[in-house]
Order: sequence, then C-alpha cells, then structure tokens
Amino acid sequence: MSETMIEVKDLDVSFGSAQVLRGVDLHLERGKTVGVVGESGSGKSTLAKVLVGTVRAAAGSAVVDGVDIVAANRREMGAYRRRTQMIPQDPYSSLSPRRTIAQTLAEAVDPARARVATHEDLIAEWLTRVGLAPEMMHRFPHEFSGGQRQRIAIARGLIIDPHLIIADEITSALDVSVQAQILDLLAGIKDSLGVTMMFISHNLAVVQRVSDDVVVLYQGQVVEAGPVGQVYSDPQHWYTRRLLDADP
Ligand code: ADP
Ligand code: MG
Repeated sequence: MSETMIEVKDLDVSFGSAQVLRGVDLHLERGKTVGVVGESGSGKSTLAKVLVGTVRAAAGSAVVDGVDIVAANRREMGAYRRRTQMIPQDPYSSLSPRRTIAQTLAEAVDPARARVATHEDLIAEWLTRVGLAPEMMHRFPHEFSGGQRQRIAIARGLIIDPHLIIADEITSALDVSVQAQILDLLAGIKDSLGVTMMFISHNLAVVQRVSDDVVVLYQGQVVEAGPVGQVYSDPQHWYTRRLLDADP
C-alpha cells in the first residue's frame, strides 16, 4: 500500500465566478498530521470539503487514500466518504440533539443496524478513550459541556476506523484550557492509533501542537508549506511572518 494519503495537485475551486482555491498543492504521508492555517476566508474549509467529497474541484487532481476524488463516480465516493471523516467546529452538526450519544454512535458504526445493544461495547470503549465515562452514553448532547461535546464528536469521527480525519477549527469555540485538553486528547489518539489527520485552524499555536507539517493558505493559494518547526522558526513568505507576528 502506498505511504501517501493525500496528493493534491494544482487544485482550483470556484463558487460561481469567485475562485476560492487556486493551484493548491498538498502532500501528506500516512500517519502524519498536516496543519492548515490562514485567516478567515482563505479557503481552509473549502479545501476540507473537497477532501471529504462535498465540494467538487473545477480543475486539478486530488488523490486521497488511493482514490482520485476529482474523477471518482458516486459508488466510489460512497465508500470513500466513510473512510474520510470530518470533525466539525460545531459538534451539533454531527450530534443530533434528539438522540442519545449511544444512538448517534451506533448509527455511525452501522447506519443499517443501529441498535445500541449491538454496539454497546465499542461505544463504551470509545467514550473511555476520549475521556468520558461509558455510562454517559445514554445522555443527550445538551447534557454535556462544549468540551465534552467536542470529545464525543471526536469519538463519532473515529469510531468507524477512518483512514483520514479532517478536523476543521474544532477548538475555536472552546476556552483556552479546554482547547489544551482537546489538543492533548488528539495528540494522544494520534500517537496510539497512528491516524492520519488534517488539522485546520486560524490559530498557529494550536496547529503547532498537533501537526508534523503545515500549509499556509492566503487568498486561496498555498504560500508556504513544510515541517511545522521549520516554517514557524524560519518563515519564507511575508504572509507567514505576518501570521506569526500576530499570534500571541
Ligand atoms: P475559511 O475556512 O478559511 O474561513 P472558506 O473556505 O470557508 O474559508 O471560504 C473561502 C471563501 O469562499 C470565502 O470568501 C467564502 O465566502 C467563500 N465561500 C465558501 N463557501 C462558499 C459557497 N458555498 N458559496 C459561495 N462562496 C463560498
Ligand atoms: Mg473555515
């Protein structure tokens, strides 16, 4: 099996007449995490949506987990989408307010046979893994704090054993101390399970905590890419320097 997870070349994405991504290149090896930074509106979420298959590229190529997602047909994309999971900023977009945590997780594991009893052991295991008590599975999302909900969203993304996780601003709505806990959790999961991840944030410090490589997006273009230590200590592009200077 190839060691490459993401190979994006010269990717263009437009919404109507607005070109949002221009000539984007991105490479990611299996087991690694790439951080994507850039200010609001730079195209980070659009890139994520292309990679999960909800936005189509206008031009260029994107081979992810062995699938050419620009050219793939519906059936190929159906299987691919299960293997690539997005963890959203707002956990409510993956957690139904009317379902218990157990019901949501059971449905994620097997949409056709979503009986909680069938999947109870796996659900308990994942809640433990993300730092929550297994008994909490019978509660509803509103009974948890923001940080706990984000933990559940992480479990929801990972419980089906995806090949690639895309985390889009998942700590942005949280207090700094809770942010740190979620980052520690992700770093631990990454080390123990070896998941491949794209970690998107406008916050450079947050990205540094979990990423091996970093890509800097500016107005839809990659202006700098490389190992996170190298890019942060010796930025080559003025925009990267500006972001680093602005970061407290
Ligand atoms: P980021 O995640 O970095 O804040 P986005 O990818 O969300 O950036 O947005 C990049 C640009 O694309 C923005 O100017 C945004 O307004 C525009 N955009 C995003 N989604 C759509 C859409 N569905 N239709 C039209 N414009 C969009
Ligand atoms: Mg965004």
